[in-house]
Amino acid sequence: MTNSYSESRALFSRAVARIPGGVNSPVRAFRAVGGEPLFIARAQGANIWDADNNQYIDYVNSWGANIVGHAHPDIVAAAQDAIGRGLGFGAPTQTECEFAELLHSAMPAMEKIRAVNSGGEATMSAVRLARGFTKRDIVVKFEGCYHGAVDSLLVDAGSGALTFGNPSSAGVPEAVAGKTLVLPYNNPQAVADAFAAKGDSFAAVIVEPVAGNMNLVVPDPEFLQTLREQCDKNGVVLIFDEVMTGFRVHRGGAQALFGIQPDLTCLGKVVGGGLGVAAFGGREDIMSRLAPDGPVYQAGTLSGNPVALAAGLAALKIVLADGFFPALSKTARDLADELEKAAEVVRAVFSARSIGGMFGLYFRGAPPKNFAEVGECNLDSFARFFQGMLRRGVYLAPSAYEAGFVSAAHGADEVAATAKAAAATLAEMQN
Ligand code: PLP
Repeated sequence: MTNSYSESRALFSRAVARIPGGVNSPVRAFRAVGGEPLFIARAQGANIWDADNNQYIDYVNSWGANIVGHAHPDIVAAAQDAIGRGLGFGAPTQTECEFAELLHSAMPAMEKIRAVNSGGEATMSAVRLARGFTKRDIVVKFEGCYHGAVDSLLVDAGSGALTFGNPSSAGVPEAVAGKTLVLPYNNPQAVADAFAAKGDSFAAVIVEPVAGNMNLVVPDPEFLQTLREQCDKNGVVLIFDEVMTGFRVHRGGAQALFGIQPDLTCLGKVVGGGLGVAAFGGREDIMSRLAPDGPVYQAGTLSGNPVALAAGLAALKIVLADGFFPALSKTARDLADELEKAAEVVRAVFSARSIGGMFGLYFRGAPPKNFAEVGECNLDSFARFFQGMLRRGVYLAPSAYEAGFVSAAHGADEVAATAKAAAATLAEMQN
């Protein structure tokens, strides 16, 4: 029996009438894979159900936020309990102290922490703070890294590694884009050359310490080490954007996994337990430049909202428990292994890998190491794979440039079912 999608289709036509593209965030629109987006009605554990009641194993997990599984009872209870005391006050609460203390205990480099509402707000604020602290303007980012819909970070240099960036979004003024230098990921020499040429004008280097917005790209340790050394030598603020990787690749983030301390860290996704929480923090001498202690202004009406923070705290307590990460990492590793095995059977040009609870799947012979290699993945094959998996009850991110996420609710059964769907889909693709 084939699935019906009539409710999702009806909702999508309603949505396009009043919402640009029918979606409130562009990648949800399925443009990269064809067809129309599914409208999700509910979720539990490892599964989501669409408006037509079709069930899927979910590997999007709210883009990584839902690390303990959908509607986890501890998180739901914590949020409900907090709601009973009021939805928010715009004044300090004890929950904010607990949140900052917990983040600091997991990531000691975060000496002082400020809570915000989205990852993009965290990176935007961290960049402003780094500029205010160094009294310099130029920000270095890396090709293929995404840091939220922030003017100065929506810049991609294309092939010209040492040229100042062109806006990759309309609406970003040249004057803003020109303050952003884009370098290739995983290329320590390009970093050393850029610093040799202009290091004394750099305010900050911002990097996804494991990249997850050009599919999954794992850093060479030498790359991150070079960033740390060059920033130290030149008085530049090193910002790790761990919005995706924080509490996702390791209990202490990528900074613990690779043993490199950034000056500032940005967090999001997991720290909200599924609600809208993000944070940035780091060295006390830098954070003390932030208002009200210092001259760098940053503020938010709903920042540190008690309901959202209660959900985040409940999630973090589960994530930080012994045994959580070994189990989560095993699920992601088993999934990547099983997908590769399924591809080998039909000799598909395919590879997969994982790190912590993230995975990447590539229609390329080996996992890519930078944005240029990501560009060698076969997008058409990905789109066909995506659609075949969807028909078989597996919901992957609708873009070849996104990483995948498992949750603690995913286990051997989900991996086996996914591998079976992949074998059938890849076999069908050979025809
Ligand atoms: N930084 C990284 C690494 C991200 O992956 C994202 C979102 O996917 C962001 C920043 C922006 O976060 P938000 O979508 O919460 O603004």
